[in-house]
Amino acid sequence: STREGFSIIPSVTWEDVGGLDHIRKEFYRHIIKPLKHPEECEGFEFCSETGFMLYGPPGCGKTLVAEAVANEAGVNYIHIKGPQLLSKYVGETEKAIRELFSSARSCSPCLIFLDEFDALTTKRGSGEGAWVVERPLNQLLAELSGGQGRDGVIVIVIGATNRPQEIDPAVTRPGRFGKHIYLPLPNAVQRGLILKSLSRKVPLDSSVDLDEIARMEGCENLSGADLVGLVKEAGLLARDDETCSKPRRIKKIHFEDVLTRIKPSVSMQQ
Ligand code: ATP
Repeated sequence: STREGFSIIPSVTWEDVGGLDHIRKEFYRHIIKPLKHPEECEGFEFCSETGFMLYGPPGCGKTLVAEAVANEAGVNYIHIKGPQLLSKYVGETEKAIRELFSSARSCSPCLIFLDEFDALTTKRGSGEGAWVVERPLNQLLAELSGGQGRDGVIVIVIGATNRPQEIDPAVTRPGRFGKHIYLPLPNAVQRGLILKSLSRKVPLDSSVDLDEIARMEGCENLSGADLVGLVKEAGLLARDDETCSKPRRIKKIHFEDVLTRIKPSVSMQQ
């Protein structure tokens, strides 16, 4: 049942997110401000979106951002993957979509994070089996456009995908997933900020310059998820490093060691 995805307000905060301040500002304008300062937004309801498409390569913070938004907004949060809603039985997928939105309305204000939502929105008439998703797609469109803001019910939807080009344009129009936000692989400055955010969780030697690490060879093209792997592995090396005095801390050599071996998870050919 879609209830499986039900959850309370996430504990992820923007402190946990590195290098995405511009994304935070965008969500502030559309979601946080209308919720927290409705009096300042009166009359401008038409101008902010409630449906968002986050797109970009895997491991670059789509889930993290959705959770931080729900946390800052102080709203309930439902995380569900598009394929979980799909059923081979006639009508069951539409029913699952209907139930998802009805759960969300019943715990308003609520944010639905619909990961891999391209599974429900393949371009109509494109390729074999396209008919299979036509009716679910229409159900999704109806849920997105209908009932928003009625009786003070607030349901915000953030859809995430690695394959925006496969999505039917009807889905990404204003009023549906109308606001599109790209989360690319982080650049060097952003990698430094992500490393700083991650390093709050580990014992780091005070001599380590994380901006320098972020610019080193081997660090290019690493995603946020890859950087988690880097910090974890450097941490294990430091923990087990007999040449270091205790209490042991992560040093530059530990990062350098991992960077000679680490491979980006996102291939640049894509
Ligand atoms: P997928 O498409 O695979 O679902 P995603 O874009 O949703 O990927 P996340 O699940 O948000 O990626 O990121 C994976 C992990 O990588 C996060 O749990 C987090 O630990 C780390 N991470 C990614 N981006 C960032 C970031 N900007 N700041 C801090 N950590 C990050």
